Amino acid sequence: MNIKDLVRSNILNLKPYTSARDMYDSGILLDANENSFGSTFTGIDGLQLNRYPDPHQKDLKKITGKFYSIAEENLFFGVGSDEIIDLLIRIFCEPGRDQVIIPEPTYGMYKVACDINNVETIQVLLNDDFQIDFDSIRKKYSDKVKIIFICSPNNPTGKLLDKDDIISLCREFKSIIIVDEAYIDFAGEGSVINEVKNYSNLVVLRTFSKAWGLAAIRLGFCCADEELINILLKVKAPYNISSLTRYVIEKSIENYAKRDQYIKSILKERERLKNLLESLKGVRKVFESDANFILIKCNAPKEVQKILAEKGIIIRDRSTQPKLEGCLRISVGTEEENDLFWNEIKKILG
Ligand code: PMP
Repeated sequence: MNIKDLVRSNILNLKPYTSARDMYDSGILLDANENSFGSTFTGIDGLQLNRYPDPHQKDLKKITGKFYSIAEENLFFGVGSDEIIDLLIRIFCEPGRDQVIIPEPTYGMYKVACDINNVETIQVLLNDDFQIDFDSIRKKYSDKVKIIFICSPNNPTGKLLDKDDIISLCREFKSIIIVDEAYIDFAGEGSVINEVKNYSNLVVLRTFSKAWGLAAIRLGFCCADEELINILLKVKAPYNISSLTRYVIEKSIENYAKRDQYIKSILKERERLKNLLESLKGVRKVFESDANFILIKCNAPKEVQKILAEKGIIIRDRSTQPKLEGCLRISVGTEEENDLFWNEIKKILG
């Protein structure tokens, strides 16, 4: 499948912004109207904050590619995975004409990003096991559908989607299949990232916001066919990833053992929370989780959320989403935070 057939014609024909830095990145740099004297921030040695960052994301590609064993030409970095979601919609979907399929319940930004771009979304439902329902997609599918979003492990259900199903989706539908693996580090298995080499329409999204504990720096990446990566590079803002972000990633990847420790602690706390929640009379169901949060079903979820908020404990009411009647989503906190949560929730639902 040639993904260029799916790209909007204005994007295919786009002459991208170029800067002198595309060709020269060292020397006497009098090309970009920067402040050659220096920067007002002096906190981190060796960080040149007076210069624009590398538009080609070379260091990030090298460091991250090596860590994840992904070829550099298959990597693209965005300001959080949210930026990549928006860019992909803008690359493939003609506003007012094309469509995007979103199997619900899932992460709300897919629809918001489509709405912002005036791209119609077709909501289909996951099946009762929160897996892909092929028939419901087939019923709504046409050649106007340019993207199908899949979130695995899914937010807010917490469940991994079946890997073979995702591959079948890539095979059957001539659309871009975006698989958002923001929470994959908590699942231990089930990633489709190695399938990118087999399917040119597959895009796998990852983020540093979860397991790495770096939500504040806003860095996400995607792994996809080189041709698609080159289109993303053409469309992005020239200097989208800051030098500060690059610096933090360099140090964090050197320190990856800490990420592994976080994952271990979160999984341990997830199990403890799950067992505690299952013991509550007022909890009708605790869903299995492959992520760093737990979905539960209870009576009067809105009231439960409100009472907890009055005690300073903030969880997410998801009960108005399709198929999630009565559902609340609880992020796994530290042991201490979870104890505080438990002390309050048991008074309400015990
Ligand atoms: N994907 C999913 C499924 C998410 O839940 C979130 C944030 N909660 C994101 C992407 C956004 O990630 P980022 O911080 O990389 O923009």
